[in-house]
Amino acid sequence: MTSPTSASRSTRTATVVGAGQTGVTAALGLLDAGFDVTLYSDRDQRSLCDDVPATGTALEFGEAQQAEVALGLDTYTSRAPRHSGLSVRIAGPENAELIAFDGNFDGYVGVAVDTRLKADERLTAFLERGGKFVVEPVTPESLDDIAGRSDLTLVATGRGGLSDLFAIDTDRTVYDAPQRTLLTVTVKGLGFDEGVFAHRSPAGGGHSLFSIFAEQGEAWWGPYLHKDAGPSWAFLGWARPGSDWETRFAAADSAESALAIVKDLYRDYIDWDLPEVETAEVIAEDPHSWLKGAVRPVVRAGFGRTASGHVVGSLGDTSVAYDPIAGQGAQSGLIQAQRYVAAAANHDGSFDEAWLTEQYESFLAARSDAAAKVTRLFLSDPEFADIGGQFFATAAVDPKFASALVGLLHRPQSFLDVDSAEDAGAYVARVTGEDPAELLSRFAPAGRFERSSFAPAYAH
Ligand SMILES: Cc1cc2nc3c(=O)[nH]c(=O)nc-3n(C[C@H](O)[C@H](O)[C@H](O)COP(=O)(O)OP(=O)(O)OC[C@H]3O[C@@H](n4cnc5c(N)ncnc54)[C@H](O)[C@@H]3O)c2cc1C
Repeated sequence: MTSPTSASRSTRTATVVGAGQTGVTAALGLLDAGFDVTLYSDRDQRSLCDDVPATGTALEFGEAQQAEVALGLDTYTSRAPRHSGLSVRIAGPENAELIAFDGNFDGYVGVAVDTRLKADERLTAFLERGGKFVVEPVTPESLDDIAGRSDLTLVATGRGGLSDLFAIDTDRTVYDAPQRTLLTVTVKGLGFDEGVFAHRSPAGGGHSLFSIFAEQGEAWWGPYLHKDAGPSWAFLGWARPGSDWETRFAAADSAESALAIVKDLYRDYIDWDLPEVETAEVIAEDPHSWLKGAVRPVVRAGFGRTASGHVVGSLGDTSVAYDPIAGQGAQSGLIQAQRYVAAAANHDGSFDEAWLTEQYESFLAARSDAAAKVTRLFLSDPEFADIGGQFFATAAVDPKFASALVGLLHRPQSFLDVDSAEDAGAYVARVTGEDPAELLSRFAPAGRFERSSFAPAYAH
């Protein structure tokens, strides 16, 4: 609402539109900060949980978990299977097996929690603490009325929804189309002990696995907490435009077919991990345990205006959509939600364009610009080809650098100042304390990655 701020703190109202994990997290945070909060959703609570797939894998690391802790929320680190590192394999032209390394997470863990589970549990808490939940698809017209009645209105309707209310930031939006097509499927039948994926890392099933193919795309497996099956594994694949993988992913039309496509992919391209992948089973109780699509990385404005001029803020995927290759979207939304809640709780004036702009600029500077840049690095964006080549080869030589490289998924900020091969060398020297050229001279192509000798006796 754009009217003056005579309202006392106890009567301040906030509206959040969209009950995905970002919207619910913000709504609960604002409620706990003393706002009278209404949360609008186009689906009821059961439907949010059971009728849709998870928006994504939502793997998150220490910094995003700290944002949840700051809001007094469960980080799921005690309930979800933990990731303690990332094992990487890179195949070059003609699938030559080039680079292998295993980066340990340094002082933090990763957890990938079903976005439906997280949103559902936070929505239950929101309702128990007196939040108002309205099941109604919000339109640009109804938003005008809603925003007119609320001191602060945040729109968290995801990448589609009401996102057109927020202008695209053309300086920050570097791609005019998605860079990959995606396929995900969540499975059971595989444990997390050292015997699983033991050929990848001494941590076995405690590390997630990333396989990069220069000509095809990327494939990732990681421990996951599924809303029905509990501890499980998630597969996430990225296909380059025009690749064989793209054709394969397009054929998926169910969890069963998605898993069959993934198993064939591992038979034909990634046989070093095949025995474990063969044991994966579909989660029969959840027909929505798979997803295919594509994400165009887009940065939008932090505020928009409704027809009669009320100011509304963007949040989560509505603000910034990332390709999931570096796992930044869910993390970014949670950090943005926490920053907005903390700032709103400490703000006495109106939540006008100036306030929203200040919060958004500060969020972009503190997290999102760096998250977007690290996403481009992991997408093998040609602009970062030299830097990526140096970083990934150095990681194969130096475990400390391997840890720093995978650590960019947790804290992308240290990559923000790396723009040239010289900057990359300086960064390597800072992390390792060694001469970057000497480190690179020690790199030798892997030749042949170690193959799995996993025996089904390890399967759970
Ligand atoms: C394949 C894939 C893998 C991913 N992996 C990761 C990862 O590993 N790590 C990570 O950090 N991020 C990851 N992400 C990104 C992450 O999943 C998303 O950033 C995050 O879940 C977005 O949450 P959100 O609440 O902003 O949006 P959404 O989950 O899209 O929620 C929006 C909600 O708004 C509702 N809605 C829409 N329109 C209206 C309307 N008009 N009125 C009312 N309600 C409406 C929708 O029904 C929905 O409930 C991944 C994304 C994808 C696609």
